Amino acid sequence: MINIILFGPPGSGKGTQSIKIAEKYGLVHISTGDIFRREIREKSDLGIKVRSFIEKGELVPDELLIDILKAAMVKHHDPKGFVFDGFPRTITQASDLDKLMEEMGLKITLVLVLDVNEDEIIGRLLKRAELEGRSDDNEDVIKNRLKVYRDETEPLIRFYEEKKLSEIVDGIGGIDNIFNNLCEVIDRY
Ligand code: ADP
Repeated sequence: MINIILFGPPGSGKGTQSIKIAEKYGLVHISTGDIFRREIREKSDLGIKVRSFIEKGELVPDELLIDILKAAMVKHHDPKGFVFDGFPRTITQASDLDKLMEEMGLKITLVLVLDVNEDEIIGRLLKRAELEGRSDDNEDVIKNRLKVYRDETEPLIRFYEEKKLSEIVDGIGGIDNIFNNLCEVIDRY
């Protein structure tokens, strides 16, 4: 099995690239952001709970995450592996994931870190706001998401560096170029 975490700031292209990776390697793509947006659309209990966090650009509380992730994983029979997109986002989530993987007899193969500078990211997110109208893509919320990323999520790069699992990949350029760079790294594992 290969289990990949795709890691990077909001707007780094995690979503796009993880779908492509999942397709090419036959893996199951799990995006916590997509799960939350679906729940919000369906106005489920979970959706109602998480909506205000997401609209402010805050993180959904850690204790909600691991059960959701587990539920998304166990739905699949005999998967070839997973691509995690948008999870983990805090050290707590990363330790919870370690425990869950151990419980399931699985291992994280690789953490791909998409490297994109802040100016590029703000530009991309504002453009996405125009195109898709995602309610968390306006300027104030974008700034908050970036701050939350720096404060809570970025420290995970070190966490995975220490475990010798992380690989930094240039996230600037065309979608296919970046995808090729990612595949080159994956193919080494
Ligand atoms: P992006 O990375 O582009 O901001 P996502 O779709 O990954 O977009 O996430 C959108 C929002 O969903 C986040 O800003 C956050 O509020 C919430 N979210 C997604 N995944 C997590 C997570 N693992 N922990 C906490 N909140 C999350």
